[in-house]
Amino acid sequence: MSTRQFSVDGDVALVTGSSSGIGKAIAERFADDGVDVVVCSRAQENVDPVAAEINDSDRPGRALAVECDVTDRDAVDALVEATVEEFGGLDVLVNNAGASFMADFDDISPNGWQTIIDINVTGTYHCTHAAAEYLKDGGGSVINLASVAGQDGSPLMSPYGAAKAAVINFTTSLSNEWAGDDVRVNCIAPGYVATPGVESQMGVSADAIDREEVARRIGTVDEIADVAQFLSSPASSYVVGETITVRGVPQIGEDLEV
Ligand code: NAD
Repeated sequence: MSTRQFSVDGDVALVTGSSSGIGKAIAERFADDGVDVVVCSRAQENVDPVAAEINDSDRPGRALAVECDVTDRDAVDALVEATVEEFGGLDVLVNNAGASFMADFDDISPNGWQTIIDINVTGTYHCTHAAAEYLKDGGGSVINLASVAGQDGSPLMSPYGAAKAAVINFTTSLSNEWAGDDVRVNCIAPGYVATPGVESQMGVSADAIDREEVARRIGTVDEIADVAQFLSSPASSYVVGETITVRGVPQIGEDLEV
């Protein structure tokens, strides 16, 4: 039995919010696997080093850095155009750009609420809608990043939980609509992942994670990239409209211990 079906080799991928954290790890993994990848975030200077590092490495995939705020439809249209112009098409879209903040619901302003919905939900809509024509041209794949907050709820992050629940539901609806176009739409719902943001908020770094002593209460970005690679590869050809929870040991209502 071959393992080649786990390779995404030869595809073109676009990973939003890939200047850091999970998106950066997914972009690097794709390039490792021979995928040409477009990396994007809101500031060119944050995403240039990610592309440069890929292009300066011996990874078989090439990278293009594009500045794009996913809440700005004109910028998203330009991002998709730049992708197709550089690499000739688009096979895999990873809607990874996301954001949240912690606050009591009573203190959340209309602007704060709208910002979280715009980035996590409307950004996912813009990118998927803008890329539709290319994804449908030859059997594409969409991978949305949700969160366990969208499955279980999350006190002090109510707009984020609501937004990620919307992303999960959108995944199911679109997977059905686009099934006939040979585009698979799936979703990843991570629990805690050791990214720079989580490290600064919670003081837990990726270096503290020891899979020899199995706690499995916080994951690494590579463990999310593993699932993204699987979902974009032919190995997941019978996985459609699913949200894969990647959270280690379920930790509802417990304090985080690494
Ligand atoms: P991160 O903060 O390290 O990275 C987020 C990326 O999105 C950055 O590149 C940022 O610049 C970009 N971004 C933010 N707003 C944007 C916008 N409007 N337009 C374009 N880019 C924008 O985050 P992360 O922890 O790597 O999270 C990645 C995804 O995974 C997010 O959707 C997040 O909600 C989800 N997630 C993360 C965790 C975790 O514990 N880290 C857990 C569950 C879900």
